[in-house]
Amino acid sequence: FLSKRLMEVAKFVPQGVCVADIGADHGKLLVYLAEQKKITSGIAGELNRGPWKNASAFVHKTGHQSLIDVRQGNGLEVIDEKVDVIVIAGMGGALIASILEDGQAKLKSTRRLILQPNIGENRLRKWLEEHHWELVEEEIVQEDGIYYEILVAEPNVKGHSTYDQLPLSKERFYQIGPLLWKKKHPLLVPKLQLSLLRKLEVRNQLKRAKQESVKEKIAEIDAEIRDKEQVI
Ligand code: SAM
Repeated sequence: FLSKRLMEVAKFVPQGVCVADIGADHGKLLVYLAEQKKITSGIAGELNRGPWKNASAFVHKTGHQSLIDVRQGNGLEVIDEKVDVIVIAGMGGALIASILEDGQAKLKSTRRLILQPNIGENRLRKWLEEHHWELVEEEIVQEDGIYYEILVAEPNVKGHSTYDQLPLSKERFYQIGPLLWKKKHPLLVPKLQLSLLRKLEVRNQLKRAKQESVKEKIAEIDAEIRDKEQVI
């Protein structure tokens, strides 16, 4: 009952932990984790009443209500106990970053974040780096022709940076993914090529506009295209 994308997310949940799934929607991820006997307890957080009701119904139907608590609330405010792992999947990177930013006090006991941004991965990598979370794993999943990224981060206690000794700036690697690049992930080049194609389309449309004001934007895109071509 779980999508390939969420199956991949589930792989990063260690055995025997308490997991909060924020923006749980249908609640399927935690039910799957419960059925795999991976979690000791789960909190499904949902902002909206419709998905919150759906998740509650699904958890009851599958008989996991003693293990999974379904709570309605904004972001990390639903958490008021020690949680080992927080999952936030299927939203934009900027929204995920803002949920983490607003809930920083709730992150103190958390050992691992498993994040799956649909877009805006760069915004999320930047937030993690600036708030001392170290990327420990990065994955790309392809489902229905769409590439999804999964970022796994842990508190950066040793203080080393994932962004050292890379051929381009940190800003560029917020987009590319330092670990995806280091491990030469087989889907990284196809994903970058697709994003280059989109950038080129935008650039050509801007060129047709022939306005002075867009020149800077075109130069910016050209630099990004050049840099990406260099790492492909
Ligand atoms: N996590 C699921 C997945 O990956 O399939 C659901 C993704 S769904 C597109 C995003 C869910 O996040 C929606 O159900 C929405 O109601 C919820 N959501 C959006 N903003 C939220 C917030 N600030 N706090 C909690 N849930 C939120």
